[in-house]
Amino acid sequence: MLATLLSANIERIGIMGGTFDPIHNGHLVTAELAAYQYQLDKVIFVPSGNPPHKTKQQITKDEDRYIMTTLATIDNPKFDVSRIELEREGLSYAIDTVKGFKEVLGEIDIYFITGADAILEIFTWKEPEKLLTECKFIAATRPGYCLSKLEDGIYEEYQEQIFVLKIPGLAISSTDIRNRVANGRPIKYLLPPRVENYVNKRKLYI
Ligand code: NAP
Repeated sequence: MLATLLSANIERIGIMGGTFDPIHNGHLVTAELAAYQYQLDKVIFVPSGNPPHKTKQQITKDEDRYIMTTLATIDNPKFDVSRIELEREGLSYAIDTVKGFKEVLGEIDIYFITGADAILEIFTWKEPEKLLTECKFIAATRPGYCLSKLEDGIYEEYQEQIFVLKIPGLAISSTDIRNRVANGRPIKYLLPPRVENYVNKRKLYI
């Protein structure tokens, strides 16, 4: 996948990092709006491999999350999916992912897109200062999100590196979808039909 990007004259990409358990329409809207607003040539969805803050038992198998992410993004030419974190040994750190992309693509501009709550924890991540020089961050927020958490204190210093993107469609959440399936409530229209079919076929979240 990265080799294809190399030949495609790419200057600026978004890395859409998340567990995607499951991927839903809120993620897709986020990626589309980020691409528009920050003029990204591509958005590469990177399902997290072995997140340092979660145990493997808490999340669905890598292959299921990878397949759902691929099914969800397949019809958008701007979107791609990378296995970079799924194939790397050990814990998945964002800094290693960003460096991995730069090793292949050179010094392109990278925007790391993820949920605002995850970005609020960035100073507990591996090499946060280095990470903030290697890429910019887009913090996607849900309706009703208290923006002061991102605007206060230390984040004020990083206004040129961390951007907030308000996403109305992020009222949808993976946790809510998993709970709905477990309780027999409908999930139709919250995620792409191909992903819904996959969830049903593999009996995920029951
Ligand atoms: P999470 O705890 O699963 O999610 C935190 C919140 O952000 C949830 O509300 C989630 O909503 C939302 N979210 C997650 N990914 C999103 C996306 N791409 N767009 C919009 N909203 C999103 O967070 P996570 O998935 O584990 O971590 C997010 C990213 O940060 C991953 O790429 C992870 O590798 C990285 N991270 C790195 C480190 C490190 O380097 N040490 C530590 C922590 C996280 P949904 O549940 O609806 O998705």
